[in-house]
Amino acid sequence: MPSHSFDSRLTCNGNGHMDPEIDWENVGFGMTPTDYMYVMKCSDDDEFDKGQFLPYGNIELSPAAGVLNYGQGLFEGMKAMRREDGKIVLFRPHENALRMKIGAERMCMPSPSADLFVDAVKKTVLANKRWIPPTGKGTLYIRPLLLGTGPILGLSPAPEYTFIIYASPVGNYFKEGSAPLNLYVEEEFHRAFRGGAGGVKSITNYAPALKPLTMAKSRGFSDVLYLDSVHKKYVEEVSSCNIFIVKDNVISTPPTKGSILPGITRKSIIEIARDQGYQVEERLIEVEELLEADEVFCTGTAVVVNPVGSITYQDKRVEYQIDENGVYKKMFSTYMAIQNGHIEDKNEWIVEIN
Ligand SMILES: *Cc1c(COP(=O)(O)O)cnc(C)c1O
Repeated sequence: MPSHSFDSRLTCNGNGHMDPEIDWENVGFGMTPTDYMYVMKCSDDDEFDKGQFLPYGNIELSPAAGVLNYGQGLFEGMKAMRREDGKIVLFRPHENALRMKIGAERMCMPSPSADLFVDAVKKTVLANKRWIPPTGKGTLYIRPLLLGTGPILGLSPAPEYTFIIYASPVGNYFKEGSAPLNLYVEEEFHRAFRGGAGGVKSITNYAPALKPLTMAKSRGFSDVLYLDSVHKKYVEEVSSCNIFIVKDNVISTPPTKGSILPGITRKSIIEIARDQGYQVEERLIEVEELLEADEVFCTGTAVVVNPVGSITYQDKRVEYQIDENGVYKKMFSTYMAIQNGHIEDKNEWIVEIN
């Protein structure tokens, strides 16, 4: 396979290059291939090689690769955005690096250092710069992967690992844009359980969620809301985003104790809300409380902060009025204003690339 050094790539992607022929008004959350992917391998000594950029494309794997046979793999999701001030920025990328480190530990994999991770993400964004949507039209979604790619037959950690980063321009995650979500409370299937891998972004958490998601979508719901697997009583999270409820101006979200993915957006919203003087509680939330809540919203890199319009639990459907002056809107606006550079980034969440 041809490989390119970072510098030669920059030349070929220099300013004179044609912009991709993309209808920026209608980018959804589908996969649009970009120019380059970052690839770095690690064998034997737990040391990663020097990474390289390859043209985006298929990778070759042994049929006996640990990831294919036993699901030894992790992913991350982050976004680069083009601000109106011309800066290209990432949001709290070290948090993604640390989360991958914790996940790698759980999945018996070596992981790149946080600095190496962030540096590789930055370079991947620059290598695919022409694919970053114009300001306001979307973002470049970045997908780092850590995979057990070495061949292994007996159940054991793979002998070789590959860290890959690819990217795709995206618009809104949900087709309806930030239209309110209609959630279905799932009682039969669970996303994660105490002692499992629900607290890390292991690829093994997602295929089992496809069936409940497909079933809910076929019944007209936007997504599934999971309950804890022991009592089937406490709210956990949505397929790929965290959940918050608001009651009498108090904001609550379930604690991340192993079966809930610790979202970086979740963490940021908690910090923003507290900074604005809200009382924020991380506590068990009974599913019945949803029926009484003033507001419910979801958070995640893909969905950002999205209001929930209805929740269906057993034979009850509650609808929420979406208040344009509500808590969800304040959280969304502040989060976006920090990313856009419209308000001060006093916690140093923004990492500039160029
Ligand atoms: C990625 C993910 C989230 C959101 O995490 P962010 O860091 O905010 O993007 C929430 N739940 C699940 C199951 C996820 O995979």
